[in-house]
Amino acid sequence: MKDVLDFENTEIAFSNKSNRQLRKAKILFSIISFEWLIKIAKPITNLLLHIHFPISPILKHTVFKQFCGGETIAQTESTINTLYDNGGVYSILDYSVEGKGDERFFENTVNTLSRVCDYAKHSIKTPFLVFKPTGLGRSAIYEKVTSNVELTESEQKEWEKIVERFNLICSSVAATDNLKIMIDAEESWLQGAVDQLVEDMMVKYNKIRTVVFTTLQMYRLDRLTYLEHLNNLGIQHGIKIGIKFVRGAYMEMERERAELKGYKSPICQDKASTDLNYNTAVSYSLVRLHLFELFIGTHNELSCQILMRDMIEKGMKTNDNRIWFGQLYGMSDHISYNLAKNDYNATKYVPFGELREVIPYLFRRAEENTSIGNQTSRELNLIDKEIKRRRKNQIV
Ligand SMILES: Cc1cc2nc3c(=O)[nH]c(=O)nc-3n(C[C@H](O)[C@H](O)[C@H](O)COP(=O)(O)OP(=O)(O)OC[C@H]3O[C@@H](n4cnc5c(N)ncnc54)[C@H](O)[C@@H]3O)c2cc1C
Repeated sequence: MKDVLDFENTEIAFSNKSNRQLRKAKILFSIISFEWLIKIAKPITNLLLHIHFPISPILKHTVFKQFCGGETIAQTESTINTLYDNGGVYSILDYSVEGKGDERFFENTVNTLSRVCDYAKHSIKTPFLVFKPTGLGRSAIYEKVTSNVELTESEQKEWEKIVERFNLICSSVAATDNLKIMIDAEESWLQGAVDQLVEDMMVKYNKIRTVVFTTLQMYRLDRLTYLEHLNNLGIQHGIKIGIKFVRGAYMEMERERAELKGYKSPICQDKASTDLNYNTAVSYSLVRLHLFELFIGTHNELSCQILMRDMIEKGMKTNDNRIWFGQLYGMSDHISYNLAKNDYNATKYVPFGELREVIPYLFRRAEENTSIGNQTSRELNLIDKEIKRRRKNQIV
């Protein structure tokens, strides 16, 4: 397929990076390309933090700076401004504190989301909110509801609290003029409960405009069928269906659990099948834009090219407000910035949170960049290309 857009334009891709920042990014991606280093760095970092060894400044000026916007909403503002003012890229503030399964943490997440909502509704630079369902309630509760296990009285209360939190956040977003909210997808054994809840939210809040977006992980074998179900839900209730399409982040865990528990893995057998599923789902939705609004959360260039080609074939404007592209902050700037330069709706998830609290998120990013080997070498090649271009033009 002939490319619609040249993602290799590194001048645009790195227009917001100084020479110094480029060199720092090069060093960082070179380091995280060593799988063994990331493997040993994780326990060592956790240990050093545990014994209060002063490692925070190092982390802050390296991985944190590369992959996070700041520790607070206020600190993240300059990242939001740089992305939008220099590149036309929208930000999605992502409170990236994970894995604390207690009520205080869940309440704190709700309060933080409420503050993000108050901030984002006043700015055209931040069109979406996002949250992870396990930020609002315990995994064990989602798991039980997904597998139809009867809840105890206190678990039932916890579930009701989760429903209340979903409602609180979604209704606050619905009450704004044009903010939208995306709900991330979790592991398949939790996702049944999330799907049901998000469907309820869409039925409630997507009558007039697309407020709530669900997430479909297209590495799952059952998701094309689920997409048809969502299509029918939209018709049945006369609502818009917002969907973020991703490939899925928990492949290894899904396969390991299936093997351990002796059921058939719910994940596509190979990468090509996931890719096919992904692109088929996006095409399916694109011909049903009277119902669907799409958010393509991917660092895959071909999936972006296919969608852009299909939009052209349908005679759509590049910035049609029913189509959004999204990448993670610190990764694949060449996609985000080139999309935005050509007037597509390009967004970045911009993680924020206290340094100590976002360490798990940072390690997931480092591991992802290591395990998706060509992701790192692609970043490195592009950085090298830009450094050479600047040298040649005596910009360095
Ligand atoms: C903005 C944004 C939001 C995201 N939100 C979520 C979310 O809510 N939930 C979530 O789970 N993930 C989420 N992700 C992560 C996403 O699911 C992918 O893990 C990640 O983006 C890599 O996939 P890709 O399409 O970018 O790129 P690619 O590099 O083309 O694809 C890699 C992906 O392909 C799949 N894959 C790789 N090898 C195989 C194989 N052998 N067999 C089958 N499939 C394979 C895996 O899903 C892998 O992650 C998000 C990503 C982005 C950019």
